[in-house]
Amino acid sequence: MKISIVFLVIISITSLLIYFNSPDSTTMAKVSNLINSDTTKHKGESMNEKLVKTDEEWKKELSQEQYRILREKGTERAFTGKYWDHHEIGIYICAACGTELFESDTKFDSGCGWPSYFEPIEKNRIVYKEDKSFGMKRTEVMCAKCDGHLGHVFDDGPPPTGLRFCINSGSLKFVLKEK
Ligand SMILES: [Zn+2]
Repeated sequence: MKISIVFLVIISITSLLIYFNSPDSTTMAKVSNLINSDTTKHKGESMNEKLVKTDEEWKKELSQEQYRILREKGTERAFTGKYWDHHEIGIYICAACGTELFESDTKFDSGCGWPSYFEPIEKNRIVYKEDKSFGMKRTEVMCAKCDGHLGHVFDDGPPPTGLRFCINSGSLKFVLKEK
């Protein structure tokens, strides 16, 4: 009798732990869809080697705000960045390493105050990481080449992916498409 009670208690504690530690499951399911189906346009391109630099080197190359966001995972205040309300046609590249990350035709007005995209240019250009900071369960997105922090991805985006890549303007640079 006692053994079965102990057993039940262990099972309940384990399931509670699993419940509270499970990642942001809907977002991750949609992210896996994106990665598996690869709806992105530039198929089959793989990322080159990682770009690794010391903090000192990054500090020299990036502005204070870029360093705070990209290297220290900071967040710019909503509606203050350069690109949340930016509508020109072109490509958004990583401000640290120049990797092409998002195209203007995947950008949409999410109303959240940060530039938002429903998919990256190519699936391998972004890495996803579970982020439990500030008592929230979110999925962090980083540049696959330099590991620079970009922002987060959420599951309330528009079709076809249902994802919203919520990115700091400070981690991006815009390159106008030549006519
Ligand atoms: Zn980068």
